[in-house]
Amino acid sequence: MSKEAQLSTYLEFLRFASVSTDSSFTPHLRGCAEWLKARFLKMGLKATIHETPRHPIVVAQNEHKAGRKSLLIYGHYDVQPVDPLNLWDHPPFEPHIDGDKIYARGSADNKGQILPHILGVEAYLAQHKELPLNITFLVEGEEEIGSPNLKPFVEKNRDLLKCDVVLVSDTSMVGPEAPAITYALRGIATCEIKIKGPSHDLHSGVNGGGVTNPAWVAARIGAQLHDENFHVQIPHFYDDVKALADWEREEWKKLPVQEKEVMEQVGVDALYGEKGFSYYERVWARPTAEINGIGGGYQGEGSKTVLPKEAQVKLSFRLVPDQNPERILDHVETWVKGLKFPGCKLEFKRGHSGKPYICNPKSPIMESTLACVEEVFGDKTFLIREGGSIPVIQTFKEQLGADSLLVGLALPDCLAHAPNENMSLRNFFKGIELCQKLLTALAK
Ligand SMILES: [Zn+2]
Repeated sequence: MSKEAQLSTYLEFLRFASVSTDSSFTPHLRGCAEWLKARFLKMGLKATIHETPRHPIVVAQNEHKAGRKSLLIYGHYDVQPVDPLNLWDHPPFEPHIDGDKIYARGSADNKGQILPHILGVEAYLAQHKELPLNITFLVEGEEEIGSPNLKPFVEKNRDLLKCDVVLVSDTSMVGPEAPAITYALRGIATCEIKIKGPSHDLHSGVNGGGVTNPAWVAARIGAQLHDENFHVQIPHFYDDVKALADWEREEWKKLPVQEKEVMEQVGVDALYGEKGFSYYERVWARPTAEINGIGGGYQGEGSKTVLPKEAQVKLSFRLVPDQNPERILDHVETWVKGLKFPGCKLEFKRGHSGKPYICNPKSPIMESTLACVEEVFGDKTFLIREGGSIPVIQTFKEQLGADSLLVGLALPDCLAHAPNENMSLRNFFKGIELCQKLLTALAK
């Protein structure tokens, strides 16, 4: 297939408005799944659409033969909503090309990163007639809403999805000349604390100073999460945290994007966090406690002298190996229940959670993947962790016993989830090349 034909396939894929969270887009997700199935069939693979309570999962395979290694390639065809639409320079589902960049919702996350693997397999087949591996493509339509139906699907279809290793391009490179392979992801645990005080809002003159103010309690809880070194103060929080290896610290010191660039990216004049750790160490290999929302009392214009009857704090914890989200929430709950504020009741509610993931970055398969990436991109390739969470990676590990090769093709400024999402066309085409190299390397 010519480069032009590959590009026009990409454009077709991007034109589906496959926004998974909004049910009015359901026909577009269906259309996109059908389009994928047709693509796979055209390549000579077997392809099936598996129904779920919401958006379908597409599975495609070559003929699996005994004695060959098995590779599962995972991606998602759904995208985030486009709001605010007025901040897009071009309509989000009418892809626009400007130089090396292609702008569209889903261009990077994840259509422009799964498609290179589909086109890579297609190119390999066109050249060699036969694939060197047993391949399974698993492309879902619910990643952006937390993959509610993927875990049960994987559990039910362990034989179908059986593999030695998983290949996923849904992470990011460090910079245009700094590809990266991600070998660890942080987990997550979330909760909400409701603080209930007096039976109704009180007058701050009549009752102020005589009754505990729930908004003050919310602030106290937030303030007590960390000590002055930004160390989390919840007892047992660090019990299962694995220490960073020396080589990790050394590798990350060499990254082309350092603290100065991060400050520019996020728009602050100083970084801050746990004492004794660099920025990358803190966001990739250390756990956090964050306030994601805090509220109570009057939020409108001007002042209103009130003691609110209730307040709330929403917390999330990013977790590292070997922390367990449920055990962490147990520790948080015990800590919250031990806080005493006269006249106030604290209610603790657990939210969603996901385990952290790590694989051996120095395994032979990781080393040969690294060599392929370096050869295709011609740049030193970094071994990194990521601060975010992709819960399905842990599901693959638990259900299929397979580690994941997380080879990101997107650039850090791809604006995933935001207006003007974009993808580097160079990386898109390099991805097609990389997939073919990997097929050969992983078959060995
Ligand atoms: Zn996403």
